[in-house]
Amino acid sequence: MDFNLSTISFLSEKNFRPVDPEKVYDVVIIGGGPAGLTAAVYCMRKGVDTAVIVNHIGGQVAETSSIENYMGYRYVNGVELVEKFREQVQQFSIGYDEGNAVETIEDDGIKRVMLTDGRIMKGKTLIIASGKSWRKLGVPGEQRLTGKGVAYCTICDAPLFAGKKVVVVGGGNSGIEAAIDLAAVAREVVVVQLLEKLTADKILQDKLSGFNNVSFIFSSIVKEITGDEKVKSVVLENTGSHEISEVSTDGVFVEIGLDPNSGFAKGVVEMNKYGEIVVDSACRTGRDGIFAAGDVTTVPFKQIIIAGGEGAKAALSACEYLINKE
Ligand SMILES: Cc1cc2nc3c(=O)[nH]c(=O)nc-3n(C[C@H](O)[C@H](O)[C@H](O)COP(=O)(O)OP(=O)(O)OC[C@H]3O[C@@H](n4cnc5c(N)ncnc54)[C@H](O)[C@@H]3O)c2cc1C
Repeated sequence: MDFNLSTISFLSEKNFRPVDPEKVYDVVIIGGGPAGLTAAVYCMRKGVDTAVIVNHIGGQVAETSSIENYMGYRYVNGVELVEKFREQVQQFSIGYDEGNAVETIEDDGIKRVMLTDGRIMKGKTLIIASGKSWRKLGVPGEQRLTGKGVAYCTICDAPLFAGKKVVVVGGGNSGIEAAIDLAAVAREVVVVQLLEKLTADKILQDKLSGFNNVSFIFSSIVKEITGDEKVKSVVLENTGSHEISEVSTDGVFVEIGLDPNSGFAKGVVEMNKYGEIVVDSACRTGRDGIFAAGDVTTVPFKQIIIAGGEGAKAALSACEYLINKE
């Protein structure tokens, strides 16, 4: 038989259809980042009836401006890569629900996935690929001023700070990537770092050193974000001297890492002390028929290509499980 790529990819194109709460799917996937979407492609190519529940399509990739380590692309913008992922999943007639979060899951043999809008989706197996989300500072003013100058995602919000002064909290990879994005548009960027030096990769630090509108405050923690209708300042405490200072600013980007989106699975699957779901090398959780993949798991190194690979493994494990159950 002739192998013709164009015939294979487009003959089967059917697009997404709504997830049917009446049905028990072979596989329900939670998450629309690289892990969840790769799992979806693998499940559909195995011919199992699959539903994907996605809060925000693309996950962290949709919030990444420049990707230079995903094979096949020397450089790709995150939003562009997500569009490619979506295109690839959309060629299959897959159950798809976007814009609702999973609140809890239950397992009484059938895996029940409860959404915030009250609907319950059902599967014989479940793949949890819900990734990670920005960690919060948890200081006064943060929650109240979110969207009023407090932000987490530079790809979404950096343009709002064109010509303004911004504080970036965090000196790791997330913080320095954010500072690079912001330095290109903002008048002034101040990076506040808890430690005595930056911990970001050298390549990122080198990139940031090319801007002359960036300054650093080391050994400091944020105690409060002030402002009424919009952010006015950040209050800092020096970790050595305990001296308090105040930096006036138009915006604060909180870039202190990420926490796993695993709260809805507490008590159902085992997690480590960071809330990551414990998986074995085949993405099996300790729970029969529940698999997990990508950043939400204990897999070392959180990267797009790794999350995609883990999604593939979780899908193949789920399909193998279904065959062995029959
Ligand atoms: C700023 C930044 C830059 C990065 N740059 C790179 C890079 O250059 N190269 C690289 O390889 N990696 C990079 N990474 C890491 C990479 O993006 C992640 O490792 C990867 O996206 C993880 O994929 P994932 O599918 O496991 O999770 P995520 O991408 O986090 O996706 C999780 C998905 O689950 C959904 N979800 C979460 N909770 C729920 C819920 N309760 N109900 C329903 N859906 C839910 C989310 O909406 C999302 O669709 C970067 C990360 C960040 C934050």
